[in-house]
Amino acid sequence: MTAHCLTSRRTFLTQTAAGALGVALLDACADTPAPVPDDIGALARSVQGTVVVPADEAYDASRLLYNTRFDAVRPLAVVKCKSASDVQKALGWARRNSVHIAARSGGHSYGGFSTTSGLVLDVRDMATIEVDTTNHTVLVGAGASLIDIYGALFAHGLALTAGTCPTVGIAGHALGGGYGLISRKFGLTSDNLLEIQLVTAAGDLLTCNDKQNTDLFWACRGGGGGQFGVVTSLKLQVYAVSEASYFRLIWGWPDAAKVVDAWQAWAPYAPDELTSLCGLFCRPGKEPWVRVIGMYLGPVAALEKLLLPMLSPALGTPTTTVVEADSYENITLMWAGCESTAAACHLAPQGTLEREIYRAKSDYVTEPLPAAAIDIMMEWVAARATATATGYILLDAYGGALSRVAPDATAFVHRAPLFSCQYLAYERPTDTPETQQENRDGLNDLHASLRPYMSGEAYQNYIDPDLADWQHAYYGGNLPRLLQVKAKYDPQNVFRFAQSLPVV
Ligand SMILES: Cc1cc2nc3c(=O)[nH]c(=O)nc-3n(C[C@H](O)[C@H](O)[C@H](O)COP(=O)(O)OP(=O)(O)OC[C@H]3O[C@@H](n4cnc5c(N)ncnc54)[C@H](O)[C@@H]3O)c2cc1C
Repeated sequence: MTAHCLTSRRTFLTQTAAGALGVALLDACADTPAPVPDDIGALARSVQGTVVVPADEAYDASRLLYNTRFDAVRPLAVVKCKSASDVQKALGWARRNSVHIAARSGGHSYGGFSTTSGLVLDVRDMATIEVDTTNHTVLVGAGASLIDIYGALFAHGLALTAGTCPTVGIAGHALGGGYGLISRKFGLTSDNLLEIQLVTAAGDLLTCNDKQNTDLFWACRGGGGGQFGVVTSLKLQVYAVSEASYFRLIWGWPDAAKVVDAWQAWAPYAPDELTSLCGLFCRPGKEPWVRVIGMYLGPVAALEKLLLPMLSPALGTPTTTVVEADSYENITLMWAGCESTAAACHLAPQGTLEREIYRAKSDYVTEPLPAAAIDIMMEWVAARATATATGYILLDAYGGALSRVAPDATAFVHRAPLFSCQYLAYERPTDTPETQQENRDGLNDLHASLRPYMSGEAYQNYIDPDLADWQHAYYGGNLPRLLQVKAKYDPQNVFRFAQSLPVV
């Protein structure tokens, strides 16, 4: 048992009642998997994919998530599913043997909820991508990464509205929302879901769309991953994108408060074609800085005009000002952190990107932040100058198309906010348990200090194991309907983890 897991377990047990959630925690923190039931060989022989057990060479590569914080979790086995039928067989096996399961697509869960000491149902080998250029749709396997979908669409001048991180998996992302740099124009990824296929706890493969299993389809558009079943494929609306431009503005720390204030009065009200993010950054030992970036689906001359409020001399002089036209493909690759090709934009060893270790919390803002709130944010960021690793605060502009959807039209309730806030504290693998705890305490203190200024909602895709009132924060007024769907499709709570919807 690692020191980290001991810490997590202690905190968890003081925060929640025992029972199913306690079991989920034990699943997430166990170093040693339970003994492998005898008939795992029968499961391995029955599936098209592979069943990877601890004795296999591929075990470590198969079990790890994006965040290295969960590396101590050792699943009993990872089933690398190749088809919906594999998912059904693995689920049936787990249920017969009373083994906890976790579904995994891209493995980016902030809370480590796509791993378990039980059976991981990994859909990453279900990654086919079929582009329909006539109807502007894409049909993807549940394990496709965002960058592979983007890459397939680039060739046809098409775009999927989804996040910037290339290695995120489509299933976990779309089920919880999915915000990116064209979201103010085209909405969230979940808003663009046309159909999903999902294996229920009973083992049925269901088609969910606006005509069949409509309640489940509603819940899967924002209700969060891992709750109702294992999604095996998704059909999404995509869009033709012709002209694009982008900008990157950076100011020194003395200008930060003015910039954040100007950004919040500008970004949520910009034309839909403009989506922008404001970030407060710090690296240990360096002076913090503030950065505003964005993508505009239109000509650079129009973007330059739109940017005038952010370039007002009253905000100070940016140290960097980049406003350029480029292809949508190049801009997407640039913000994904991969300036070469979509194919190289994967985690090592397939690509050049590295895993990370971090903690995060989120908030939503519905009333402009007063100076006092911006000061609190700046103090936390500045304090990271003495920490061991980077920390930053990201503000993502809402408004536009994503805010014109009614809060109860899908399970994604956060339609009123002006913007979301994400507080990210990175760590180093060598940090001591004490440093990790300080990091965690610092984030929780920041979050607590900001309560008077925030809506009380939080983004379910930035799932936060330390969040106390998470059911209301993630789902607001949609919670009762989500609980009904959970009770109908997963009455025995097969799909459970520390922050999954309970069966009531
Ligand atoms: C570096 C990084 C950058 C990010 N950037 C953005 C961003 O720009 N915009 C944004 O909106 N979000 C962003 N996110 C958050 C991201 O959307 C969520 O973490 C998302 O849940 C990840 O999905 P995944 O499939 O990769 O993760 P996983 O860990 O595989 O899954 C997440 C959850 O979904 C469940 N799940 C996975 N597969 C299935 C399935 N087939 N059926 C049912 N449930 C399933 C899991 O059990 C788990 O509970 C980012 C995350 C990271 C780590």
